[in-house]
Amino acid sequence: MKAFDNFINGKFVRSSGDKRIEVINPATGSLVCTVPDSTEQDVNDAVTAAAEAQRSWGALPAAKRAGHLRALAAKIRQHVEPLARVITEEQGKTLGLARVEVEFTADYLDYMAEWGRRIEGEIIESDREGETIFLFRRPIGVIGGILPWNFPFFLIARKAGPALITGNTIVIKPSEETPHNAVKFCELLAELDFPAGLINVVHGRGPVAGQALASSPSVGMVSFTGSVNAGSAVMAAAAKNITKVNLELGGKAPAIVMADADIDLSVKVIKASRVINSGQVCNCAERVYVHRSVAQEFVEKLTTAMQATHFGDPIKDETVEYGPLINEGGFKKVERLVGSAVAAGAEVRTGGKRADRSTGYYYEPTVLSGCTQSMDVIRQEIFGPVIPVVEFGDLDEAISYANDCEYGLTSSIYTRDLNTALRACQEIRFGETYINRENFEAMQGFHAGWRKSGIGGADGKHGLYEFTQSHVVYMQRY
Ligand code: NAD
Repeated sequence: MKAFDNFINGKFVRSSGDKRIEVINPATGSLVCTVPDSTEQDVNDAVTAAAEAQRSWGALPAAKRAGHLRALAAKIRQHVEPLARVITEEQGKTLGLARVEVEFTADYLDYMAEWGRRIEGEIIESDREGETIFLFRRPIGVIGGILPWNFPFFLIARKAGPALITGNTIVIKPSEETPHNAVKFCELLAELDFPAGLINVVHGRGPVAGQALASSPSVGMVSFTGSVNAGSAVMAAAAKNITKVNLELGGKAPAIVMADADIDLSVKVIKASRVINSGQVCNCAERVYVHRSVAQEFVEKLTTAMQATHFGDPIKDETVEYGPLINEGGFKKVERLVGSAVAAGAEVRTGGKRADRSTGYYYEPTVLSGCTQSMDVIRQEIFGPVIPVVEFGDLDEAISYANDCEYGLTSSIYTRDLNTALRACQEIRFGETYINRENFEAMQGFHAGWRKSGIGGADGKHGLYEFTQSHVVYMQRY
Protein backbone atom coordinates (compact mmCIF):
# COMPACT_ATOMS: atom_id res chain seq x y z
CA MET A 1 0.00 0.00 0.00
CA LYS A 2 1.30 3.45 -0.94
CA ALA A 3 1.95 5.90 1.92
CA PHE A 4 2.69 9.46 0.81
CA ASP A 5 4.13 12.56 2.49
CA ASN A 6 3.65 16.31 2.35
CA PHE A 7 5.57 18.39 -0.20
CA ILE A 8 7.33 21.32 1.43
CA ASN A 9 10.11 23.50 0.02
CA GLY A 10 10.59 21.26 -3.02
CA LYS A 11 10.86 17.98 -1.08
CA PHE A 12 8.62 15.23 0.21
CA VAL A 13 8.75 15.43 4.02
CA ARG A 14 7.23 13.38 6.84
CA SER A 15 4.53 14.89 8.99
CA SER A 16 5.45 15.88 12.55
CA GLY A 17 2.50 13.76 13.71
CA ASP A 18 1.79 10.09 13.14
CA LYS A 19 -1.90 10.12 12.19
CA ARG A 20 -2.79 9.05 8.63
CA ILE A 21 -5.77 9.47 6.33
CA GLU A 22 -6.95 6.49 4.29
CA VAL A 23 -8.03 7.27 0.74
CA ILE A 24 -10.83 5.03 -0.57
CA ASN A 25 -11.89 4.22 -4.13
CA PRO A 26 -15.63 5.08 -4.05
CA ALA A 27 -16.44 2.52 -6.77
CA THR A 28 -14.99 -0.47 -4.94
CA GLY A 29 -14.44 0.57 -1.33
CA SER A 30 -10.80 -0.50 -1.60
CA LEU A 31 -7.89 1.41 -0.09
CA VAL A 32 -5.98 3.55 -2.62
CA CYS A 33 -3.23 5.04 -0.43
CA THR A 34 -2.66 6.97 2.77
CA VAL A 35 -1.53 10.57 3.32
CA PRO A 36 -0.59 12.45 6.49
CA ASP A 37 -3.33 13.84 8.72
CA SER A 38 -1.08 16.87 9.12
CA THR A 39 -0.57 18.97 12.22
CA GLU A 40 -0.54 22.72 12.70
CA GLN A 41 3.27 22.44 12.82
CA ASP A 42 3.33 20.92 9.31
CA VAL A 43 1.20 23.77 7.99
CA ASN A 44 3.41 26.35 9.68
CA ASP A 45 6.53 24.75 8.16
CA ALA A 46 4.97 24.98 4.70
CA VAL A 47 3.92 28.60 5.23
CA THR A 48 7.45 29.48 6.38
CA ALA A 49 8.92 27.87 3.25
CA ALA A 50 6.42 29.69 1.03
CA ALA A 51 7.16 33.05 2.70
CA GLU A 52 10.92 32.56 2.23
CA ALA A 53 10.50 31.59 -1.45
CA GLN A 54 8.17 34.50 -2.12
CA ARG A 55 10.90 37.13 -1.63
CA SER A 56 12.86 36.18 -4.71
CA TRP A 57 9.86 34.91 -6.70
CA GLY A 58 8.01 38.21 -6.24
CA ALA A 59 11.06 40.10 -7.51
CA LEU A 60 11.32 38.01 -10.68
CA PRO A 61 9.82 39.60 -13.83
CA ALA A 62 6.38 38.10 -14.48
CA ALA A 63 7.47 36.93 -17.96
CA LYS A 64 10.08 34.71 -16.26
CA ARG A 65 7.49 33.37 -13.81
CA ALA A 66 5.36 32.55 -16.86
CA GLY A 67 8.14 30.33 -18.21
CA HIS A 68 7.90 28.11 -15.12
CA LEU A 69 4.12 27.81 -15.45
CA ARG A 70 4.49 26.82 -19.12
CA ALA A 71 7.06 24.16 -18.25
CA LEU A 72 4.67 22.75 -15.67
CA ALA A 73 1.80 22.73 -18.19
CA ALA A 74 3.98 20.87 -20.71
CA LYS A 75 4.99 18.32 -18.07
CA ILE A 76 1.36 17.68 -17.15
CA ARG A 77 0.48 17.11 -20.84
CA GLN A 78 3.08 14.34 -20.98
CA HIS A 79 1.23 12.47 -18.19
CA VAL A 80 -2.45 12.85 -19.04
CA GLU A 81 -3.32 9.17 -18.92
CA PRO A 82 -1.73 8.18 -15.59
CA LEU A 83 -3.00 11.37 -13.94
CA ALA A 84 -6.52 10.75 -15.24
CA ARG A 85 -6.46 7.21 -13.82
CA VAL A 86 -5.38 8.47 -10.40
CA ILE A 87 -8.20 11.05 -10.37
CA THR A 88 -10.82 8.50 -11.44
CA GLU A 89 -9.67 5.91 -8.94
CA GLU A 90 -10.01 8.17 -5.90
CA GLN A 91 -12.83 10.45 -7.04
CA GLY A 92 -15.10 8.31 -9.22
CA LYS A 93 -15.52 10.53 -12.31
CA THR A 94 -15.36 8.93 -15.77
CA LEU A 95 -11.95 8.51 -17.35
CA GLY A 96 -13.03 10.74 -20.25
CA LEU A 97 -13.88 13.57 -17.87
CA ALA A 98 -10.67 13.00 -15.88
CA ARG A 99 -8.64 13.35 -19.11
CA VAL A 100 -10.47 16.59 -19.89
CA GLU A 101 -9.70 17.78 -16.34
CA VAL A 102 -5.97 17.11 -16.74
CA GLU A 103 -5.79 18.76 -20.16
CA PHE A 104 -7.82 21.73 -18.97
CA THR A 105 -5.44 22.09 -16.01
CA ALA A 106 -2.46 22.35 -18.38
CA ASP A 107 -4.37 24.83 -20.59
CA TYR A 108 -5.26 26.87 -17.52
CA LEU A 109 -1.61 27.16 -16.45
CA ASP A 110 -0.70 28.28 -19.99
CA TYR A 111 -3.54 30.79 -19.92
CA MET A 112 -2.34 32.23 -16.60
CA ALA A 113 1.21 32.35 -18.00
CA GLU A 114 -0.10 34.60 -20.81
CA TRP A 115 -0.96 37.19 -18.16
CA GLY A 116 2.73 37.60 -17.39
CA ARG A 117 3.03 40.48 -19.86
CA ARG A 118 -0.47 41.81 -19.28
CA ILE A 119 -0.57 42.65 -15.56
CA GLU A 120 -1.31 46.37 -15.54
CA GLY A 121 -1.55 49.13 -12.95
CA GLU A 122 -3.05 52.59 -13.46
CA ILE A 123 -1.93 56.20 -13.69
CA ILE A 124 -4.46 58.44 -11.94
CA GLU A 125 -4.98 62.15 -12.60
CA SER A 126 -3.80 64.23 -9.62
CA ASP A 127 -5.32 67.38 -8.03
CA ARG A 128 -1.82 68.79 -7.55
CA GLU A 129 0.40 70.46 -10.09
CA GLY A 130 3.44 68.37 -10.96
CA GLU A 131 2.21 65.25 -9.18
CA THR A 132 1.67 61.79 -10.69
CA ILE A 133 -0.33 59.09 -8.96
CA PHE A 134 0.54 55.47 -9.78
CA LEU A 135 -1.47 52.41 -8.79
CA PHE A 136 0.62 49.23 -8.76
CA ARG A 137 -0.64 45.69 -8.38
CA ARG A 138 1.65 43.96 -5.89
CA PRO A 139 1.75 40.32 -4.80
CA ILE A 140 -0.11 39.56 -1.57
CA GLY A 141 2.60 37.19 -0.29
CA VAL A 142 1.65 33.66 0.74
CA ILE A 143 -1.70 32.30 -0.45
CA GLY A 144 -3.47 29.46 1.36
CA GLY A 145 -5.41 27.27 -1.09
CA ILE A 146 -8.01 24.86 0.35
CA LEU A 147 -9.50 22.47 -2.21
CA PRO A 148 -12.64 20.34 -2.67
CA TRP A 149 -12.73 16.83 -4.11
CA ASN A 150 -14.93 17.26 -7.19
CA PHE A 151 -12.33 18.74 -9.59
CA PRO A 152 -9.29 18.20 -7.39
CA PHE A 153 -6.53 18.40 -9.99
CA PHE A 154 -7.89 21.44 -11.85
CA LEU A 155 -8.42 23.29 -8.59
CA ILE A 156 -4.67 23.10 -7.89
CA ALA A 157 -4.09 25.15 -11.05
CA ARG A 158 -7.04 27.45 -10.41
CA LYS A 159 -5.35 28.51 -7.17
CA ALA A 160 -1.65 28.15 -8.02
CA GLY A 161 -1.80 29.62 -11.57
CA PRO A 162 -3.03 33.13 -10.69
CA ALA A 163 -1.14 33.07 -7.36
CA LEU A 164 2.23 32.38 -8.97
CA ILE A 165 1.99 34.58 -12.05
CA THR A 166 1.22 37.60 -9.83
CA GLY A 167 4.28 36.90 -7.67
CA ASN A 168 2.79 35.04 -4.73
CA THR A 169 3.68 31.59 -3.43
CA ILE A 170 1.15 29.08 -2.19
CA VAL A 171 0.41 26.38 0.39
CA ILE A 172 -2.29 24.00 -0.79
CA LYS A 173 -4.38 21.68 1.33
CA PRO A 174 -6.13 19.17 -0.96
CA SER A 175 -9.36 17.53 0.06
CA GLU A 176 -8.79 14.54 2.34
CA GLU A 177 -11.03 12.57 -0.06
CA THR A 178 -8.78 13.09 -3.11
CA PRO A 179 -5.15 13.80 -2.17
CA HIS A 180 -3.47 11.23 -4.45
CA ASN A 181 -3.63 13.40 -7.59
CA ALA A 182 -1.99 16.24 -5.64
CA VAL A 183 0.87 13.87 -4.72
CA LYS A 184 1.31 13.09 -8.43
CA PHE A 185 1.28 16.83 -9.18
CA CYS A 186 4.13 17.29 -6.67
CA GLU A 187 6.10 14.41 -8.21
CA LEU A 188 5.97 16.24 -11.56
CA LEU A 189 7.02 19.49 -9.87
CA ALA A 190 9.99 17.70 -8.31
CA GLU A 191 11.14 16.55 -11.77
CA LEU A 192 11.19 20.14 -13.05
CA ASP A 193 13.64 22.95 -12.46
CA PHE A 194 10.89 24.62 -10.43
CA PRO A 195 12.05 26.91 -7.61
CA ALA A 196 11.55 25.24 -4.21
CA GLY A 197 8.84 26.58 -1.93
CA LEU A 198 6.60 28.10 -4.61
CA ILE A 199 3.95 25.39 -4.41
CA ASN A 200 3.74 23.46 -1.13
CA VAL A 201 1.17 20.75 -0.47
CA VAL A 202 0.08 19.78 3.04
CA HIS A 203 -2.47 16.99 3.38
CA GLY A 204 -4.96 16.81 6.19
CA ARG A 205 -8.43 17.49 7.45
CA GLY A 206 -10.34 20.76 7.54
CA PRO A 207 -10.64 21.29 11.28
CA VAL A 208 -6.86 20.93 11.86
CA ALA A 209 -4.76 21.57 8.73
CA GLY A 210 -7.44 23.71 7.04
CA GLN A 211 -7.95 25.84 10.14
CA ALA A 212 -4.20 26.20 10.70
CA LEU A 213 -3.81 27.55 7.16
CA ALA A 214 -6.79 29.90 7.39
CA SER A 215 -5.70 31.28 10.78
CA SER A 216 -2.00 31.67 10.02
CA PRO A 217 -0.85 35.29 10.45
CA SER A 218 1.68 34.73 7.64
CA VAL A 219 -0.97 33.89 5.03
CA GLY A 220 -2.12 36.95 3.07
CA MET A 221 -5.18 35.44 1.42
CA VAL A 222 -7.10 32.19 1.77
CA SER A 223 -8.59 31.01 -1.49
CA PHE A 224 -11.13 28.35 -0.58
CA THR A 225 -13.42 26.16 -2.70
CA GLY A 226 -15.94 23.93 -0.97
CA SER A 227 -19.16 23.93 1.01
CA VAL A 228 -20.84 26.91 2.66
CA ASN A 229 -20.30 25.51 6.17
CA ALA A 230 -16.57 25.01 5.71
CA GLY A 231 -16.29 28.37 3.89
CA SER A 232 -17.91 30.06 6.85
CA ALA A 233 -15.43 28.32 9.24
CA VAL A 234 -12.54 29.48 7.01
CA MET A 235 -13.84 33.03 7.07
CA ALA A 236 -14.12 32.95 10.87
CA ALA A 237 -10.55 31.65 11.20
CA ALA A 238 -9.24 34.26 8.73
CA ALA A 239 -11.04 37.02 10.62
CA LYS A 240 -8.57 36.72 13.53
CA ASN A 241 -5.85 38.27 11.40
CA ILE A 242 -8.12 40.23 9.01
CA THR A 243 -6.84 37.89 6.30
CA LYS A 244 -8.47 38.36 2.91
CA VAL A 245 -10.75 35.51 1.81
CA ASN A 246 -11.72 34.39 -1.67
CA LEU A 247 -14.57 31.89 -1.38
CA GLU A 248 -16.03 29.66 -4.10
CA LEU A 249 -18.91 27.87 -2.41
CA GLY A 250 -21.94 25.79 -3.27
CA GLY A 251 -24.63 26.33 -5.88
CA LYS A 252 -28.27 25.50 -6.58
CA ALA A 253 -28.45 26.46 -10.24
CA PRO A 254 -31.96 27.01 -11.64
CA ALA A 255 -32.65 26.04 -15.27
CA ILE A 256 -35.71 27.76 -16.78
CA VAL A 257 -37.34 26.05 -19.77
CA MET A 258 -39.74 28.45 -21.53
CA ALA A 259 -42.72 27.43 -23.67
CA ASP A 260 -40.81 28.37 -26.85
CA ALA A 261 -37.63 26.48 -25.87
CA ASP A 262 -35.98 23.88 -28.07
CA ILE A 263 -37.16 21.03 -25.83
CA ASP A 264 -34.76 18.44 -27.26
CA LEU A 265 -31.80 20.75 -26.68
CA SER A 266 -32.87 21.57 -23.12
CA VAL A 267 -33.40 17.87 -22.30
CA LYS A 268 -29.99 16.91 -23.69
CA VAL A 269 -28.14 19.69 -21.91
CA ILE A 270 -29.94 19.45 -18.56
CA LYS A 271 -29.49 15.68 -18.48
CA ALA A 272 -25.77 16.09 -19.23
CA SER A 273 -25.61 18.69 -16.47
CA ARG A 274 -26.97 16.23 -13.91
CA VAL A 275 -24.94 13.18 -14.83
CA ILE A 276 -21.52 14.75 -15.43
CA ASN A 277 -19.36 13.86 -12.43
CA SER A 278 -22.43 12.04 -11.01
CA GLY A 279 -24.13 15.42 -10.56
CA GLN A 280 -21.39 16.62 -8.20
CA VAL A 281 -20.62 19.94 -9.91
CA CYS A 282 -21.19 23.32 -8.26
CA ASN A 283 -22.38 25.11 -11.40
CA CYS A 284 -24.66 22.49 -12.99
CA ALA A 285 -28.47 22.65 -13.12
CA GLU A 286 -29.81 21.57 -9.71
CA ARG A 287 -33.51 22.45 -10.18
CA VAL A 288 -35.61 22.84 -13.33
CA TYR A 289 -38.50 25.25 -13.83
CA VAL A 290 -40.55 24.32 -16.88
CA HIS A 291 -43.47 26.20 -18.45
CA ARG A 292 -46.76 24.40 -17.76
CA SER A 293 -47.64 24.15 -21.47
CA VAL A 294 -44.54 22.06 -22.30
CA ALA A 295 -44.06 20.34 -18.94
CA GLN A 296 -45.48 16.98 -19.99
CA GLU A 297 -43.36 16.74 -23.15
CA PHE A 298 -40.24 17.92 -21.30
CA VAL A 299 -40.62 15.52 -18.35
CA GLU A 300 -41.34 12.54 -20.61
CA LYS A 301 -38.33 13.19 -22.82
CA LEU A 302 -36.10 13.88 -19.81
CA THR A 303 -37.26 10.66 -18.13
CA THR A 304 -36.45 8.66 -21.27
CA ALA A 305 -33.02 10.30 -21.51
CA MET A 306 -32.21 9.68 -17.84
CA GLN A 307 -33.39 6.04 -18.03
CA ALA A 308 -30.94 5.47 -20.88
CA THR A 309 -28.00 6.64 -18.77
CA HIS A 310 -25.25 4.08 -18.42
CA PHE A 311 -23.38 4.20 -15.10
CA GLY A 312 -20.91 2.01 -13.25
CA ASP A 313 -17.27 1.60 -12.23
CA PRO A 314 -15.42 4.14 -14.41
CA ILE A 315 -12.10 2.30 -14.23
CA LYS A 316 -13.57 -1.00 -15.45
CA ASP A 317 -15.92 0.44 -18.09
CA GLU A 318 -14.89 3.43 -20.21
CA THR A 319 -18.37 3.80 -21.69
CA VAL A 320 -20.13 4.80 -18.46
CA GLU A 321 -21.66 8.29 -18.29
CA TYR A 322 -21.16 8.52 -14.56
CA GLY A 323 -19.59 6.68 -11.65
CA PRO A 324 -20.22 6.45 -7.91
CA LEU A 325 -20.90 9.32 -5.53
CA ILE A 326 -17.87 10.36 -3.50
CA ASN A 327 -18.77 8.86 -0.11
CA GLU A 328 -21.48 7.64 2.20
CA GLY A 329 -22.24 11.15 3.50
CA GLY A 330 -22.90 12.43 -0.02
CA PHE A 331 -24.99 9.37 -0.81
CA LYS A 332 -27.14 9.70 2.32
CA LYS A 333 -27.80 13.36 1.52
CA VAL A 334 -29.18 12.43 -1.92
CA GLU A 335 -31.35 9.71 -0.35
CA ARG A 336 -32.67 12.14 2.27
CA LEU A 337 -33.54 14.88 -0.25
CA VAL A 338 -35.34 12.50 -2.62
CA GLY A 339 -37.14 10.80 0.29
CA SER A 340 -38.39 14.08 1.75
CA ALA A 341 -39.57 15.30 -1.69
CA VAL A 342 -41.54 12.11 -2.26
CA ALA A 343 -43.05 12.32 1.24
CA ALA A 344 -44.17 15.88 0.39
CA GLY A 345 -45.89 14.81 -2.85
CA ALA A 346 -43.24 14.71 -5.61
CA GLU A 347 -43.55 11.89 -8.14
CA VAL A 348 -40.59 9.67 -9.02
CA ARG A 349 -40.62 9.38 -12.84
CA THR A 350 -37.51 7.22 -12.88
CA GLY A 351 -34.85 6.18 -10.36
CA GLY A 352 -35.38 7.40 -6.82
CA LYS A 353 -33.23 4.77 -5.13
CA ARG A 354 -29.82 3.24 -4.61
CA ALA A 355 -28.66 1.26 -7.64
CA ASP A 356 -28.47 -2.50 -7.27
CA ARG A 357 -24.68 -2.92 -7.13
CA SER A 358 -22.53 -4.99 -4.79
CA THR A 359 -20.08 -2.12 -4.09
CA GLY A 360 -19.92 1.64 -4.49
CA TYR A 361 -22.18 4.61 -3.79
CA TYR A 362 -24.33 4.43 -6.93
CA TYR A 363 -27.60 6.31 -7.11
CA GLU A 364 -29.97 5.70 -10.02
CA PRO A 365 -30.51 8.52 -12.54
CA THR A 366 -33.61 10.20 -11.13
CA VAL A 367 -36.36 12.56 -12.33
CA LEU A 368 -38.84 14.02 -9.84
CA SER A 369 -41.90 15.86 -11.15
CA GLY A 370 -44.53 17.79 -9.20
CA CYS A 371 -41.91 19.45 -6.97
CA THR A 372 -42.67 22.70 -5.16
CA GLN A 373 -40.55 25.65 -4.12
CA SER A 374 -40.69 24.80 -0.42
CA MET A 375 -39.17 21.30 -0.77
CA ASP A 376 -35.61 20.73 0.52
CA VAL A 377 -34.76 19.12 -2.85
CA ILE A 378 -35.42 22.55 -4.45
CA ARG A 379 -33.65 24.57 -1.75
CA GLN A 380 -30.56 22.51 -0.80
CA GLU A 381 -27.63 21.39 -2.93
CA ILE A 382 -28.30 17.77 -4.01
CA PHE A 383 -24.90 16.88 -5.55
CA GLY A 384 -26.19 13.72 -7.21
CA PRO A 385 -27.84 12.49 -10.46
CA VAL A 386 -31.27 13.81 -9.52
CA ILE A 387 -33.42 16.36 -11.41
CA PRO A 388 -36.35 17.90 -9.53
CA VAL A 389 -38.89 19.67 -11.78
CA VAL A 390 -41.26 22.51 -10.84
CA GLU A 391 -43.89 23.91 -13.23
CA PHE A 392 -44.50 27.65 -13.71
CA GLY A 393 -47.06 29.87 -15.44
CA ASP A 394 -45.09 32.89 -16.71
CA LEU A 395 -41.61 34.38 -16.78
CA ASP A 396 -42.20 36.53 -13.69
CA GLU A 397 -43.03 33.44 -11.68
CA ALA A 398 -40.01 31.52 -13.06
CA ILE A 399 -37.63 34.36 -12.20
CA SER A 400 -39.03 34.79 -8.72
CA TYR A 401 -38.66 31.03 -8.09
CA ALA A 402 -35.10 31.09 -9.44
CA ASN A 403 -34.10 34.06 -7.29
CA ASP A 404 -35.70 32.62 -4.15
CA CYS A 405 -32.50 30.85 -3.09
CA GLU A 406 -29.65 31.36 -0.63
CA TYR A 407 -27.14 30.41 -3.34
CA GLY A 408 -26.30 32.60 -6.35
CA LEU A 409 -23.67 30.87 -8.45
CA THR A 410 -25.03 29.93 -11.89
CA SER A 411 -28.37 29.90 -13.72
CA SER A 412 -29.66 29.06 -17.20
CA ILE A 413 -32.61 29.71 -19.49
CA TYR A 414 -33.84 27.96 -22.64
CA THR A 415 -35.83 30.17 -25.03
CA ARG A 416 -35.87 31.23 -28.69
CA ASP A 417 -37.08 34.73 -27.81
CA LEU A 418 -34.44 37.44 -27.49
CA ASN A 419 -36.64 39.62 -25.33
CA THR A 420 -37.25 36.80 -22.85
CA ALA A 421 -33.53 36.04 -22.68
CA LEU A 422 -32.70 39.71 -22.11
CA ARG A 423 -35.30 40.08 -19.36
CA ALA A 424 -34.00 36.99 -17.63
CA CYS A 425 -30.44 38.33 -17.80
CA GLN A 426 -31.51 41.63 -16.29
CA GLU A 427 -33.63 40.20 -13.50
CA ILE A 428 -31.95 36.95 -12.53
CA ARG A 429 -29.67 37.43 -9.53
CA PHE A 430 -26.80 35.01 -10.10
CA GLY A 431 -23.11 35.38 -10.90
CA GLU A 432 -23.45 33.51 -14.22
CA THR A 433 -26.29 32.90 -16.68
CA TYR A 434 -26.11 30.44 -19.57
CA ILE A 435 -28.56 30.86 -22.45
CA ASN A 436 -29.40 27.77 -24.51
CA ARG A 437 -26.20 25.98 -23.51
CA GLU A 438 -24.70 23.77 -20.85
CA ASN A 439 -23.39 25.20 -17.58
CA PHE A 440 -19.65 25.28 -17.97
CA GLU A 441 -17.59 28.39 -17.45
CA ALA A 442 -14.65 29.61 -19.57
CA MET A 443 -11.19 30.20 -18.13
CA GLN A 444 -11.28 33.78 -19.47
CA GLY A 445 -14.67 34.49 -17.83
CA PHE A 446 -15.23 35.24 -14.15
CA HIS A 447 -16.65 32.47 -11.96
CA ALA A 448 -18.08 34.25 -8.94
CA GLY A 449 -21.16 33.53 -6.87
CA TRP A 450 -23.63 35.89 -5.22
CA ARG A 451 -25.12 35.45 -1.74
CA LYS A 452 -23.87 32.29 0.02
CA SER A 453 -22.12 31.05 -3.14
CA GLY A 454 -19.06 33.05 -2.27
CA ILE A 455 -16.94 36.16 -2.04
CA GLY A 456 -14.76 37.22 -4.96
CA GLY A 457 -14.24 34.79 -7.80
CA ALA A 458 -11.89 32.93 -10.10
CA ASP A 459 -10.67 33.02 -13.72
CA GLY A 460 -9.93 35.72 -16.26
CA LYS A 461 -8.62 39.19 -15.51
CA HIS A 462 -10.90 39.70 -12.52
CA GLY A 463 -9.92 36.37 -10.96
CA LEU A 464 -6.25 37.15 -11.55
CA TYR A 465 -6.39 40.51 -9.78
CA GLU A 466 -7.95 38.88 -6.69
CA PHE A 467 -4.42 37.60 -6.06
CA THR A 468 -2.93 41.11 -5.96
CA GLN A 469 -3.08 44.03 -3.59
CA SER A 470 -2.94 47.66 -4.62
CA HIS A 471 -0.10 50.04 -3.82
CA VAL A 472 -0.65 53.70 -4.66
CA VAL A 473 2.41 55.93 -5.06
CA TYR A 474 2.14 59.76 -5.09
CA MET A 475 5.16 61.29 -6.83
CA GLN A 476 5.64 65.07 -6.58
CA ARG A 477 7.90 66.92 -9.03
CA TYR A 478 9.68 69.98 -7.63
P1 NAD B 1 -16.01 20.69 1.93
O1 NAD B 1 -16.41 22.05 2.37
O2 NAD B 1 -16.46 19.54 2.73
O3 NAD B 1 -14.42 20.57 1.86
C1 NAD B 1 -13.65 21.47 1.08
C2 NAD B 1 -12.31 21.66 1.74
O4 NAD B 1 -12.48 22.35 2.96
C3 NAD B 1 -11.59 20.35 2.09
O5 NAD B 1 -10.23 20.49 1.77
C4 NAD B 1 -11.81 20.24 3.58
O6 NAD B 1 -10.79 19.53 4.23
C5 NAD B 1 -11.78 21.70 3.98
N1 NAD B 1 -12.45 22.00 5.25
C6 NAD B 1 -13.53 21.38 5.78
N2 NAD B 1 -13.84 21.94 6.97
C7 NAD B 1 -12.95 22.94 7.17
C8 NAD B 1 -12.73 23.87 8.23
N3 NAD B 1 -13.51 23.89 9.31
N4 NAD B 1 -11.72 24.77 8.11
C9 NAD B 1 -10.92 24.76 7.01
N5 NAD B 1 -11.05 23.89 5.99
C10 NAD B 1 -12.07 22.99 6.07
O7 NAD B 1 -16.48 20.59 0.40
P2 NAD B 1 -16.34 19.34 -0.57
O8 NAD B 1 -17.37 18.34 -0.12
O9 NAD B 1 -14.93 18.94 -0.72
O10 NAD B 1 -16.78 19.97 -1.98
C11 NAD B 1 -18.11 20.07 -2.39
C12 NAD B 1 -18.60 21.49 -2.21
O11 NAD B 1 -17.75 22.38 -2.92
C13 NAD B 1 -19.97 21.69 -2.82
O12 NAD B 1 -20.75 22.51 -1.98
C14 NAD B 1 -19.68 22.41 -4.13
O13 NAD B 1 -20.74 23.17 -4.62
C15 NAD B 1 -18.51 23.25 -3.75
N6 NAD B 1 -17.73 23.65 -4.94
C16 NAD B 1 -17.82 24.94 -5.36
C17 NAD B 1 -17.13 25.35 -6.49
C18 NAD B 1 -17.21 26.77 -6.97
O14 NAD B 1 -16.46 27.11 -7.88
N7 NAD B 1 -18.07 27.60 -6.42
C19 NAD B 1 -16.32 24.43 -7.18
C20 NAD B 1 -16.25 23.12 -6.72
C21 NAD B 1 -16.97 22.74 -5.58
